[in-house]
Amino acid sequence: MAIIGGGITGLSAAFRLQKMMDETKEEVDVTIIEASNRFGGKIETLQREGFTIERGPDSFLKRKREALDLVEELGLSDQLVSNNLGKAYILKNRELHPIPEYSFMGVPSLLKPLLDSSLLSEDGKARALNDLFIPPYPPFDDMSVGDFFAGRLGQEMVDDIINPLLSGIYAGDLYKLSLRATLPQFIELEKRTGSLILGAKQVLPKNKKKTSQFATLKNGLSSLVDRLVDAIRFPMLKNACVTRIEKMNGRYKIVLKNGETLVADGIVFTLPHEKTQDILSDCPYLKQPNAEPCTSVGTVAMAFDAAQVTIQKEGTGFVASNKEPSAITAATYTHLKWPHTTPSGKALIRCYVGKKGDEAILDESDEIIIQNSLDNLKDVVDIDGNPEFSVVTRLRESMPQYVVGHTQWLKQIEETLGHDYPHVYLAGASYDGVGLPDCIRQGNKAAKRLFNELLVDA
Ligand SMILES: Cc1cc2nc3c(=O)[nH]c(=O)nc-3n(C[C@H](O)[C@H](O)[C@H](O)COP(=O)(O)OP(=O)(O)OC[C@H]3O[C@@H](n4cnc5c(N)ncnc54)[C@H](O)[C@@H]3O)c2cc1C
Repeated sequence: MAIIGGGITGLSAAFRLQKMMDETKEEVDVTIIEASNRFGGKIETLQREGFTIERGPDSFLKRKREALDLVEELGLSDQLVSNNLGKAYILKNRELHPIPEYSFMGVPSLLKPLLDSSLLSEDGKARALNDLFIPPYPPFDDMSVGDFFAGRLGQEMVDDIINPLLSGIYAGDLYKLSLRATLPQFIELEKRTGSLILGAKQVLPKNKKKTSQFATLKNGLSSLVDRLVDAIRFPMLKNACVTRIEKMNGRYKIVLKNGETLVADGIVFTLPHEKTQDILSDCPYLKQPNAEPCTSVGTVAMAFDAAQVTIQKEGTGFVASNKEPSAITAATYTHLKWPHTTPSGKALIRCYVGKKGDEAILDESDEIIIQNSLDNLKDVVDIDGNPEFSVVTRLRESMPQYVVGHTQWLKQIEETLGHDYPHVYLAGASYDGVGLPDCIRQGNKAAKRLFNELLVDA
């Protein structure tokens, strides 16, 4: 078997296959094939001058169990750290406004925090309250996140609250993003309660104590990758870019860029979908008709002496409103949200840059990206001088866009591919969830299917 791609999805798939083999005493050759010179894909932690800096993802959701379960299986539970709680803000008109309390993905569950909010105009608030009176949508299979929320709560609410909150996860155009693939729970809530506000009330019981939702590892997420790489006994190829797959008598010849080949009976692809599409170029149905290219984003970590930084509005960071003419789309006061990352007497702020339709900043030099981010940051945080050092990371075409119809398309391509390429599976951020727990779940699932098909049912 072959697993193509050594990000968290591919490594999880390999680890799961190994576990199943250990449990059943079945043996089969598995090779992990990674194009770059390191494993982990988007996950990359940098240790520098006592700081733990995440260049990509910084944590995972605890509610989805797969990441926590993997951490436990790998014996890393004692390294787990949960985030500090704190207020989060939305940047609008160069000012920070608190996100209304008791809201679920931006949808208010109580009226008072919405009515008191400085984020919306009086008209915007009145329009949001209409949600309580307008009838539910007639049954539908899918529609865009933007249309769905704007139809119920109004445009202002989408631009100034919902869009900024979702942009950290999808960095996309909400009017193309599939509701069913990204936030299906809202379809159900609206159908059941006839209103998003009433639906949010059911999901967020009043006076429920706020608890930490995210976790990471003390030495950064790369320690999860390192532990996986240590635990996996299969051959793991680096600098091995797959360019083509050829069918040969029910098996597959995997061709690498350097001309070398491997033979496999089953394959799990864990690459960004565009890359898989190039490799399986004889499968035109893999191209989604209304596909949108992945969005490119960047992170800018800035390390300061604590005395240089005064956070005026106490909290853990902010996201920028959709229309804010700011280079940064979000910022985390990492030393406050994740104190273990920062030596005492220091401060660490991580900004995000780049969003759909505004990715040109990533073509600028590091110096310009840092200067622009710092200038924007200084609007809302008192910063004296320049960072002691900064780390810019460009993650090109890194945020997959689940466009309207995504779920239906995925079902179709899985069926057709299963017919054309038996024992070949697609898993990872391009398909069924972008978060780390989603990727781990997909890696596990593909491994189980392949194992059952090739070893149990054979
Ligand atoms: C800036 C940013 C911040 C994020 N923050 C969070 C967060 O805080 N929490 C969270 O849960 N999620 C977060 N995410 C999402 C999450 O990090 C990703 O969805 C996840 O890491 C993707 O894992 P993957 O294994 O599916 O893909 P990747 O990590 O993209 O791995 C794919 C691998 O395939 C390799 N590859 C590509 N082409 C070939 C080829 N032809 N042959 C062989 N190998 C190839 C690549 O080199 C790569 O190593 C974030 C994403 C980004 C971009």
